[in-house]
Amino acid sequence: MSHRIVVLGAGYAGLLAAKRLARRLHRDDATVTLVNASDRFVERVRLHQLAAGQRLTPRPLRQQLGRAAVQLAIGRVTAIDPAARTVWMGDEPRALVYDTLVYAVGSQARLDDVPGAAEHAHTVAAPEQATRLRHRVSEIASGGTVAVVGAGLTGLETAAELAESHPGLRVGLFTSADDIGSGLAPRGRAHLRRTLDRLGVSIHPKTVVTAVREGGLDTDAGGPLAADAVVWATGFRAPDLARAAGIATDDRGRMLVDATLRSISHPEVYAIGDAAAGMSVNGTTSRMSCQSALPMGRGVADVVAARLTGREPGPVRIGYVFTNISLGRHDGVVQFTHADDRPRRLVLTGRPAAAFKETVVRSTVHSGPRSASRGN
Ligand SMILES: Cc1cc2nc3c(=O)[nH]c(=O)nc-3n(C[C@H](O)[C@H](O)[C@H](O)COP(=O)(O)OP(=O)(O)OC[C@H]3O[C@@H](n4cnc5c(N)ncnc54)[C@H](O)[C@@H]3O)c2cc1C
Repeated sequence: MSHRIVVLGAGYAGLLAAKRLARRLHRDDATVTLVNASDRFVERVRLHQLAAGQRLTPRPLRQQLGRAAVQLAIGRVTAIDPAARTVWMGDEPRALVYDTLVYAVGSQARLDDVPGAAEHAHTVAAPEQATRLRHRVSEIASGGTVAVVGAGLTGLETAAELAESHPGLRVGLFTSADDIGSGLAPRGRAHLRRTLDRLGVSIHPKTVVTAVREGGLDTDAGGPLAADAVVWATGFRAPDLARAAGIATDDRGRMLVDATLRSISHPEVYAIGDAAAGMSVNGTTSRMSCQSALPMGRGVADVVAARLTGREPGPVRIGYVFTNISLGRHDGVVQFTHADDRPRRLVLTGRPAAAFKETVVRSTVHSGPRSASRGN
């Protein structure tokens, strides 16, 4: 009987892994099934654009797979049973049995950080949430306020995009850090500040948001602040499926894996992308980003194919090349980095940076998940 490989999650990492596995292995030796909640590939890196009112191109998964010999199974996985090597899908449970499982379920917003965030805050972590924010923003009258909490890449991009698309809104960016753009070289940081200033985004550093309420938020800096919408962008965590199944995970729900991306507790299971705590070349846990997800997607396919054909694979290398920040549609910062993610002096800003990012995002869809090659 041929070896049954189930790839769970068709984001940047899972789609790439499934395609490459199908290419690497003969269909008489292995079947590859890709399971995903929706029949569309979601360009998560554009969800702040969706929230700001832009239209995203629909990308059916079948089309993204091209001619790859990959079976698609559409439905939400509700549980994994590692003892029975089975994943359970849907409301009317359907079982999929695997010999090898590749866990690629991505990540979701961390809404349990403070009281009220889960009930009252918006996020841009998933398409339904970004669409809900888009509706809310369209209801806010000119002069209204949107508070974006968290000044990591997602918070920065969301604040800039909303401010550019809705010039009548007052957008505030709240961060507990001393400053914004901490991973950037000085020139990149200065451009970031200038651009947010030009877009009218007010920055509130050293401010810890302690609660979100209907109509605003509380901070450690004083009384309650009114906001017509609060966007929660303090970071991501992986879904709970692996932990609930008794597979070893870290405190953000990411599966603990060895240098070949294999679970440290369940050798027939691998994890990639945001759902994996992979080891970067700098010895720290991989950053949740396409730049980690793509090499992991490629790498896991090579590792699994090697083991199935009797070879012992080497470690998967997760290194970095640049960090891309879009600041609206016509501006941005591209910080080139060493493989260990430290910033180089080389920084691209303004229109060239926006054009660079757009090219990378497009190529991630066209030459990344479609044919397997580069990072974002
Ligand atoms: C607004 C925004 C902007 C970003 N910008 C950048 C950027 O500029 N550069 C960068 O590198 N990164 C960026 N990121 C982060 C990047 O999107 C993620 O790191 C990347 O998507 C991770 O890829 P992945 O394949 O691990 O997971 P995902 O792309 O999240 O894919 C996971 C897939 O698994 C599916 N899934 C999850 N649970 C289940 C289930 N139970 N059953 C079935 N299917 C399931 C999901 O539907 C999804 O299709 C951004 C993220 C956001 C939200």
